[in-house]
Amino acid sequence: MKIVLIGPQGSGKGTQAKILKERLNIPHISTGDMFRENINNKTELGMKAKAIIESGGLVPDELTTAMVRDRLSNPDCRKGFLLDGYPRNRSQAEALEGFAKIDHALDIEIPDALSIKRLSSRWQCRKCGAIYGITIIPKKKGICDKDGSELYQRDDDKPEAIRKRLEIYHKETKPLIDFYTKKGVLARIDGDQPVENMLKDILGKIS
Ligand code: AMP
Ligand code: ZN
Repeated sequence: MKIVLIGPQGSGKGTQAKILKERLNIPHISTGDMFRENINNKTELGMKAKAIIESGGLVPDELTTAMVRDRLSNPDCRKGFLLDGYPRNRSQAEALEGFAKIDHALDIEIPDALSIKRLSSRWQCRKCGAIYGITIIPKKKGICDKDGSELYQRDDDKPEAIRKRLEIYHKETKPLIDFYTKKGVLARIDGDQPVENMLKDILGKIS
């Protein structure tokens, strides 16, 4: 069960991946999370990626692909994985072909206006990574329900960076829909529906 998740920022692919990873018992590999972890730990990779990520740009392909290839070589990926945020462009998709055979590419689409609305109201827990937004509102403003830690807004969820990320999505990532259609593994999912319904759609497509 080797799955890649495509879809613009705020389409809910991260939320679905967190549920699917439990259901399917395969790891959720989010390149965005990996980069943010590297930034927090001030690793060499983190230092290189920090400014690019904060501005909403893409980290160079060589660095990103090396990080993913290394992660997928881990034994926990043998049965499968959910790749979230990679590939992001054609050159990454071609590189991935060289070290993994993808069974399903799920394209979770939403209109730009909804992306912008969701991202600009997204707040995340510093400690456990829980995400709050339009539908899941914390009981106490700015505080995580689960552990009482502070919620923060990602630098790249600020308006200027959101605009840039969506522009890159349309220009670089969307062509992957065609790429995976040609490989016969693409499934389209409507991202503008409740979490439970989307999950049902996804499970239907991959079973
Ligand atoms: P995400 O959490 O998926 O929105 O990723 C956050 C940021 O990490 C992106 O805006 C990029 O700067 C960087 N990033 C994540 N995945 C990739 C990738 N596959 N290629 C290049 N940059 C990436
Ligand atoms: Zn928390």
